[in-house]
Order: sequence, then structure tokens, then C-alpha cells
Amino acid sequence: MVKRIAVVEKEKCNPLSCGDYLCMRMCPLNREGQEAITKGPDGKAQINEELCTGVCSICVNICPFGAIHMVKLPDNLTQKPIHRYGKDSFILYNIPLPTSGKVLGILGRNGIGKSTALKILSNSLTPNLGDPENKDPKIDELIKMYRGSEIQIFLKKLKEKKVKIAYKPQSVHLIPTQIEGTVKELLDKSNENNKLDEVSEQLNLKELYDREVSALSGGELQRLAIAATLLRDANFYFFDEPASFLDITYRIKVAKIIRSLAKEGVAVMVVEHDLATLDYISDQLQILYGNAAVYGIVSQIKSVRRGINEYLDGYLPDDNVRFRDYKIKFNKGIERYVNRPVLYSWGDLEKEFETFKLKISAGELRKGEILTITGGNGLGKTTFLKMLAGLIKPTKGKIDSSIKIAYKPQDIKPEAGTVNEWLHKFAKNKESGWFEKNILDKLNLRKIINSNIADLSGGELQKVFVAITLSLDADVYAFDEPSAFIDVEDRINVAEVIRDFMNKQDTCAIVVDHDIQFVDYIGDSMLVFEGEPGKEGHVKGPLTKEEGMNEVLKMLDITFRIDAEFGRPRINQLGSQLDKKQKKEGKYYYT
Ligand code: ADP
Ligand code: ADP
Ligand code: MG
Repeated sequence: MVKRIAVVEKEKCNPLSCGDYLCMRMCPLNREGQEAITKGPDGKAQINEELCTGVCSICVNICPFGAIHMVKLPDNLTQKPIHRYGKDSFILYNIPLPTSGKVLGILGRNGIGKSTALKILSNSLTPNLGDPENKDPKIDELIKMYRGSEIQIFLKKLKEKKVKIAYKPQSVHLIPTQIEGTVKELLDKSNENNKLDEVSEQLNLKELYDREVSALSGGELQRLAIAATLLRDANFYFFDEPASFLDITYRIKVAKIIRSLAKEGVAVMVVEHDLATLDYISDQLQILYGNAAVYGIVSQIKSVRRGINEYLDGYLPDDNVRFRDYKIKFNKGIERYVNRPVLYSWGDLEKEFETFKLKISAGELRKGEILTITGGNGLGKTTFLKMLAGLIKPTKGKIDSSIKIAYKPQDIKPEAGTVNEWLHKFAKNKESGWFEKNILDKLNLRKIINSNIADLSGGELQKVFVAITLSLDADVYAFDEPSAFIDVEDRINVAEVIRDFMNKQDTCAIVVDHDIQFVDYIGDSMLVFEGEPGKEGHVKGPLTKEEGMNEVLKMLDITFRIDAEFGRPRINQLGSQLDKKQKKEGKYYYT
């Protein structure tokens, strides 16, 4: 029997805006008087799987918000579910296995169940084994289900309250809405292992001690949240997306610190979308695959190298599933722009704020070229883009205002209206078929085209901003941190869309980002920002990609090699033979 599941994403379902439960009115079974779709207790549409055969898919296609999913489960899925949130909600299969002395990396798309798995492992959600009618589930049921396996030992300890958990939540930007006080006050409260001094030193938090939490930037909040977690006296540490908001220097620093946590009796788990960071941080990997918002399956444990390669491949041999019908490949950038004409150039520029000084040396961009910018936070990257975009004036030097620049800001804020309304406002001049095929489809935006911008997740909002920026009429497209909030697959999609666009439209792009793998993937040339954060910034470059990556990696004291099988750049383990050899030769970046 083919097992189909039906899911209504309740946040997306908006029965008043679709014309009064459009799905109910159009469902052939409902029209015959059956109750395949009903009004749920929360006022949202509810699908009754017992009645719905899932074959016609009329509701799926007709829902203007893409809230309804009808999905066939993999044929070889024999496991029982671990948890189902509601009658027609997301289902999780299997749970990850934290291991003493190891860092377990978790890789998977947004909405695939990573946080759900974590809630179970941290005892804040008792799983119902797929039966949402069970209002009082017991962890003993789960323990019984995993009889004789390693996870059973962990679950038993969890039940006996022998697992002490320290947890760094994903949404650090929400901390100021939950907690008041200064950085020091907050850290003092967490300081169970008396490592306050050491941890504050490592993460440069001492200079922020007296600052109110409400006055911190995203990167500062992230460092604070990571520090507060490191100060707990726990035997299971979990970090949900620790690299977000951090600049490239802190990503590597944090990776090293988290790695050093795992020792006998201490298990560490990390969810991360920055592949290089995840690769560097983890000893082992478990992949979550399935269908975002519908169901997620936790794979078997793999070595990091194999795990990431299998993830990119879209095929998991041990689990015998192909979960994506194409491979993600890291083809080495073809230098397609070098012989093309120069499209845009800038002269020496300077900008002075009260306490900050920025110096930029002249540079140029050729048609089709993508210039990437990387370097620590507070060095003036955003200021540079804003000067190019004409939003602020340089103190010295001039910007050629005859060149049109489209600019995606770093801080993206939702606005009123639907995605479609917004795109139409900006994409007036674009031939719609081309735009839909090359931008909307590739970024998977078509299914949220009628959603309100205010209801989008962070990742969806980012993709919409990228699409809107590309829909503007311009010669140069500037993107400030486009990888923020989006998962691995969408990072690759965004990179491809931008690359394709520049190539075909004969335009060029400037991309600021901290995901080193993304930067390596998308860029042709580089600008590296250096200086003293918040005080002074200057640039090296424009450099070729090779030179630029070499500079950045040298600054971070890490070396990259290329994975023979996938052409994927990887960070060498610190002090490994290859690491030492490459450093001696000054070749931090693979060639
Ligand atoms: P991830 O962490 O991988 O992004 P989550 O575990 O947060 O994914 O969520 C997986 C799916 O479960 C999402 O589609 C989400 O909307 C759904 N979900 C999460 N919490 C609830 C809940 N309390 N009720 C119903 N659905 C939920
Ligand atoms: P980055 O993008 O590299 O993180 P920014 O360009 O955002 O750096 O900021 C560089 C420095 O300039 C920071 O110290 C910031 O506080 C300061 N700065 C940015 N904009 C202004 C402004 N409008 N007025 C005064 N200082 C500013
Ligand atoms: Mg910035």
C-alpha cells in the first residue's frame, strides 16, 4: 500500500483570505457531502487522512498560500514515526544519537525537523510515536521502541534526569525580547563551571560586560549566547546554528572552542548550514532528509566527510534512499569574465564617521564578474556597499552615478503586501517567463508567491529579497550577506541564480558574505577587508580568487584542500600533515 500523508501548514493557512475555505469548497469528496477537509479547532483547514485518498491534489494546487501538502512516503520506510505534532502536521522519523566524546553534526534543510529532534533529546517534548490523539505520552514508550540500541541508553539517562543539557537556541535575535540586563549579569547567571574569565576572553566579551543585552548586534548576541552555553556544567551541549551573524573569524574560533568541549562523558551536537564550519566542527554526521514541513527522517550515523559528500550527492547508500534528484557539484569557477570589457570602476575612496575610518583603493569589475567581499565585522563592508549604491557619500573620492546599482541590504525587514505584489512592483521591465523560470523556480518561490511577506520565514524572506534585487534594472548588483538564514541547498541555489544572471545579462555583482564555501563557490575575484573592528578598515585587493582566499585563510590560520571525489573545498584539521605542509609552502588555498 502506498502510504500518503497530508499536512496543512497552519501558519500559512489563511481561510479568510482565500475566499472562505477554498480547499473545502473545491474538494470533490466534500462536494459529495463527506468531510475530507473540515474546519479544525484552531479555525484552520484540517485534512482527515482516513477519508482523503490524496490522489486528486486539487486542494494542494488550489491553496493560494501553498499551505497544503500531499506527499508519498518512501517505499522502504518501515520505521514507526517518533512524533507527529497534530492530525495533519509534520512527522519525525528516528532521532539523532549524541555520543560521548564526539561532536555530532546535523545537516538538513529548513523545516525538516532538526529543532523537533532536539526538543525530544532535551526532554522538552515527549514524543507521541506518531499518535497526536495521545495527550499524555510517556518517554518509556520511546525507550521501549529503541530497545537494544545505543539511543536507548541515552533515553534512559534522560528519563532518570542524568543528562544535563546546555542549549544554544537558533534565534539569538529574540534574546533581547526575553531577557533584560547587562552582558555580565547574564553571564554571571550561567557561570556554573567558573569558566567566565576564560570564555569571555576567548569570545572577546569583556569589553561588552556593561552593555545592555538590548543594545547588542546580531554577532554580539550570538557570542553571548554561545558563551552562556559554554558556561553551563552539562554533559550534553547542543548548538543550533552557532555561525549565524558571526563573521568569518569568529566562525572558525567558535568551531575550535565547540570542538574542544567534546570529551569523555560529554556529548556535543551542532546544527549548521555553513558547510565549512560544520565540516570543521564535527566528528560524525547525521542527515535529516524528507520533505520540508511534511516529514523528516534522521539518517544513520556517518563520518563527516562521507556524510557531507552523500548529502551533496543526494543519495544515502546505507539508508538506500535518493532524497534529491540532482547532485550538488562544486565545479571550479571558469574565468569566463577575464576577457570581457570593464563595466564599472571606482577610484580611491574614504569615509569617516565620528569613530570609524574606512579607506578603499580603486578597483574595477568586468561584465559577468562576481566580486566577493569578506573580512571581520565592523570593518566597513556595508559602508562600502552603501557608498557604491549612493546611499551615503564618501568623505573623499567620487562614485560614478551614471552606473545603476541594485542593492540588497544586510538587514532585511518584512513589509506589507504579498510576494507577488512586491515582485510586480519591481520587475515591471523583466520578461516574465524568463524571470519565473530562472529566478522564481530556481529559488523555489512560486509556492509562496501569494503569501504575505510578513508571514515568511527568515530564509524565505532572504530569497525574496534576492529575487527582488535581481528584478531591478541595473548594471551592478550588490548583495550584503545573502546566505544569512538560508539552508545549504538554498545557498547553492542562490549562488547559481546570481552567477547565471550575471553571465547571461552581461552585468556584474558584488557579494559580501561570511560563508567561506559560498564565497568560494560564487566568486571570481575578491576584496579582503582588514583593520581594527569599529575603528579603522582598509582593503586588500581586488585580488584574484586564489590570492584572496589565500589571504583570508592565512588570516584565519586554516588551510583548504580539495576533496578528490566532489571537488569540494574542505578545511584541513589543524596540525594535520597536509595542514602543516600547505602552511609551510604558503599555499593556504588549494589550487
Ligand atoms: P527545522 O529545525 O529543521 O527547521 P523544525 O523541527 O523546527 O524544523 O520544524 C519541522 C516542521 O514541524 C515545520 O514544518 C514546522 O512548521 C512544524 N512544527 C514545528 N513545531 C510545531 C508545532 N508545535 N505544531 C505543528 N507543527 C510544528
Ligand atoms: P561591516 O559591514 O564590515 O560589519 P559596517 O560598514 O557596518 O561594517 O560598519 C563599520 C563601522 O562604521 C562600525 O563601527 C559602525 O558602527 C560604523 N558606522 C556605520 N554606519 C555609521 C553611521 N551612519 N554613523 C556612524 N558610524 C557608523
Ligand atoms: Mg555588514
